[in-house]
Amino acid sequence: MPVYRDDVVVLRTQKLGEADRIVTMLTRQHGKVRAVAKGVRRTASKFGARLEPFMVADVQLWEGRSLDVITQAESIASYGALITADYPSYTAASAMVETADKLTEAEGSLQQYLLLVGALRSLSRREHGAGLTLDSYLLRALSMAGWAPSFQDCARCGARGDHSAMVVQVGGIVCDDCAAPGSPRLDPATIALLGSLLTGDWEHTTSTPPQTRAQATGVVAAYTQWHLGRGLRSLEHVSR
Ligand SMILES: [Zn+2]
Repeated sequence: MPVYRDDVVVLRTQKLGEADRIVTMLTRQHGKVRAVAKGVRRTASKFGARLEPFMVADVQLWEGRSLDVITQAESIASYGALITADYPSYTAASAMVETADKLTEAEGSLQQYLLLVGALRSLSRREHGAGLTLDSYLLRALSMAGWAPSFQDCARCGARGDHSAMVVQVGGIVCDDCAAPGSPRLDPATIALLGSLLTGDWEHTTSTPPQTRAQATGVVAAYTQWHLGRGLRSLEHVSR
């Protein structure tokens, strides 16, 4: 039976039988993988503790007929404990792994893996605040999946300029000619913040007032829910 190794980030786990667990992982090289971890619930095994959500690990797997089997797991980064110790970080991380899970339904990519690991690391270090880190992650993950929003030129006709009407279904900000009557309008500061979150320009995010962040968060949540169809359960629990 072929054996392979990869770096993984654990997205979620579910019980299987008496003592086993199915672990869903986003891997560096093999896309998304669901594999069985045997016996991890029988004892307080170190092996099992390395395969909790938000953990990054170096894993060895046996290729199975239906599901692969995890035979070894070495922790690379234990962001899990640092993240779960802080409720806003925990809810943000939960929304991130659920988004990654949905976006990689067809196939994962190295970029999605690196983006998720980087966002979890940042959360565990409390670098930018949980809400901003989550919003930036969501915008960038959706962009990688082919749904890059436009926060500058009109998302429908491409007209240049400073527009303010937001149409989630079209993919961002639209000009006055393209805006339907009654389209919500965003403050220039909110549009600037959304642009910074999309590009990871953290310098311009830290001094933004709470109402600007709240408006940006509303846009990101609506944009994410629109593209992910039935919506994210964990996004509802994010404390904003
Ligand atoms: Zn237009």
